[in-house]
Amino acid sequence: MSAAIEAPFGLFIGGQETAAHDGQQATLLNPATNRPLAVTSVGGREDVRHALEVADRAFRDSPWAGGDGSQRTKVLFRLGRLLEEQAATFAELETLNMGKPLRESKGDIDFVVRTLEYMAGLADKIEGETIPVPGARFDYTVREPLGVTVHIAPWNYPLLLAVRSMAPALAAGNAVILKPASLTPLTALRFAKLAHEAGVPPGILNVVVGSGREVGETLVTDARCASVSFTGSSDVGRRIAELAAPRMIPTVLELGGKSPVVVFPDADLDRAARAVANGIFQNSGQMCWAGSRLVVEAGIEAQLLEKVKAAAQGLKLGPGTEAGVTMGPLVSREQMDRVLGFVAEARDGGARIVVGGGRPAGPGLQEGNFVEPTVVADVDADARIVREEVFGPVLAVHRFEGVDQAVQVANRTTYGLFASVWTRDISTGHSVARQLEAGIVTVNEPPMTFPQTPFGGYKQSGLGFEQGRDAPLVYTRRKNVIVSLGAAKAKK
Ligand code: NAD
Repeated sequence: MSAAIEAPFGLFIGGQETAAHDGQQATLLNPATNRPLAVTSVGGREDVRHALEVADRAFRDSPWAGGDGSQRTKVLFRLGRLLEEQAATFAELETLNMGKPLRESKGDIDFVVRTLEYMAGLADKIEGETIPVPGARFDYTVREPLGVTVHIAPWNYPLLLAVRSMAPALAAGNAVILKPASLTPLTALRFAKLAHEAGVPPGILNVVVGSGREVGETLVTDARCASVSFTGSSDVGRRIAELAAPRMIPTVLELGGKSPVVVFPDADLDRAARAVANGIFQNSGQMCWAGSRLVVEAGIEAQLLEKVKAAAQGLKLGPGTEAGVTMGPLVSREQMDRVLGFVAEARDGGARIVVGGGRPAGPGLQEGNFVEPTVVADVDADARIVREEVFGPVLAVHRFEGVDQAVQVANRTTYGLFASVWTRDISTGHSVARQLEAGIVTVNEPPMTFPQTPFGGYKQSGLGFEQGRDAPLVYTRRKNVIVSLGAAKAKK
């Protein structure tokens, strides 16, 4: 599947693929070549209204929202199985659309399958409680689905992040509307069809492609939108929070990061170097939780940087579909220019480029949006490259002396999504993990997460969490019911 995909992709509303109301379409490019890949419909306000109407009706009329979670369990398991059967096709489509190496796309699809299985397992375990209260009364709580939940996804893990957000809402009995990133909607559109095939009733899972300003904001501000889960940049996250505030709807925000990897001198430096490289060069650094700041003890800085440099030089850049390629292009030309701009500014400010720093030479690489794996040292503490999310394969290096300074440097960021500690001393590992201001911390591990574990940010990296056992509860309301056990009898 290396040429363009001929059949255009429509929106997915009410259980069927449909063209946009005003017929608008966009051509998507393959980021490895910048040649046309596929054509998609681009929705607008009318399509959003249609999707909201259909989803609202489906929520009220279909048995999906009803009390029997075991039906949802069956359907979500079936969906996981269907996706597993078609994993290779989905992975290839993800790579063609987004650029990441096929091996990574396969890992993403596998994560989606496991998320569906995990959430399927929870769908019939959304329970209330009975609460002892004074008097002749029976008190219980019930968990009710919210209604139509809106999910807005970014382009870096297109299907994974869309399903991570939608699956718990579906498990809890809601009707969902997804707005994928305009650059990378293809796997989500295919997934919606598969969901229908698996038995998700028409109108329960809808996908509207379109711009954030038009489609995103119309969805969030409509009275039928009962909650919004947004994964994307902190700036847009703030905007979503503002839009959601007047109606006080529940909001989950999964935002950006500037995550530190703290390496102490007693660490296994070979493993640490591999993890540092993996944490910033995987997905070409387009990861919310990329370990984009290396915080290293001064005495081992040179030694560790040599190893990270060797790992960077060992990467093979190229189209993600090509065998042996370990780093793909950035998602778009605009993103490539933005990343190179950060590096140029740091260089002009006196930073030292340890490796990379530009566009790679090599057959075919000029056509795509490739950036060399880059390490920048001797950076000013206030430089933009250490404060702002670059969202590319660019590692900024800080050095420290002593544990207190390590923690202080690591926490010197407005973000707090992920952090990592490398040491052989178990008490240093635990105590630094406790002091790091981040929602996810690993000790002697690269960035790592599972459908079973909560994923969410501290500080400006977000609000709320996704994944884990409690995720479906986010998409429910808790109602307390008090029943008199005595009044009727007393009247006699
Ligand atoms: P983005 O914020 O530009 O866009 C994300 C989504 O929001 C897209 O679908 C976009 O169309 C939509 N959008 C944009 N403006 C909108 C508006 N005004 N109203 C409603 N929707 C709007 O982010 P991006 O460039 O697609 O993705 C990269 C960002 O996502 C990075 O900052 C990254 O850290 C973050 N991210 C966070 C997580 C996490 O779990 N915390 C995961 C992946 C990516």
